[in-house]
Amino acid sequence: MNKFPPPNKLSKEEMDKKYPPVELNKRIRRLYFYHKWREKIRDRDGNRCQDCRGIMIYDLEVHHKIPLIDIIIKNKIKTLSEAMKCKDIWNMNNVITLCIDCHKKTPDYLIKSCWWKTNHI
Ligand SMILES: [Zn+2]
Repeated sequence: MNKFPPPNKLSKEEMDKKYPPVELNKRIRRLYFYHKWREKIRDRDGNRCQDCRGIMIYDLEVHHKIPLIDIIIKNKIKTLSEAMKCKDIWNMNNVITLCIDCHKKTPDYLIKSCWWKTNHI
């Protein structure tokens, strides 16, 4: 039996309480700086999915090779200002542009976190 239900089975409030790194992950993704950083990656990749090479305007996503949440946990990041200073989070070598379809095929798309898999499943 799993000790906890997966994060996506919990309400937002339960999740914030139980999994502060999950909440921080979401807060980082909402930052204006994060959006600008993602644009830089898409520009670098020529607005093309790096897997199927499709060009898309709206459906391109940025895929973290090491999931963001794992970086947060590994570096014990607790606040947004710590996140801003963390080089691993903003390392452009850790991210590539993928279309939604290719992104869904990556192993971490649904189970977002290696940390989750190793600790709870
Ligand atoms: Zn693709």
